[in-house]
Amino acid sequence: MDQDAWTGFPALMDNNVQPSAVAHLDGGLWLHHTITADADYRDVLTLLVPCACGLGYVPSLLEDERDLLELLAELRATGGRGVHSADNGGPYCDSIPAT
Ligand SMILES: [Zn+2]
Repeated sequence: MDQDAWTGFPALMDNNVQPSAVAHLDGGLWLHHTITADADYRDVLTLLVPCACGLGYVPSLLEDERDLLELLAELRATGGRGVHSADNGGPYCDSIPAT
């Protein structure tokens, strides 16, 4: 990925968000990169997928780049939209409203 695609953010105004960077991917996807708040300071990648309902984004935590590729392959089947899954307790778009 092009390094220029990343946009850095200082720690965000709301709830304990660590300094982070986001990259805008094709199809309205966002890749969010930050570090864990615990002592390990591991890298954390989260893919934000526009929800099928159009009201927000569905976050998916990525273990590594292979996770990302698998997720992108799955999204191809749904037209690049996350599935609105509030009913089953899974991650859903309300946690990240579209702005
Ligand atoms: Zn939704």
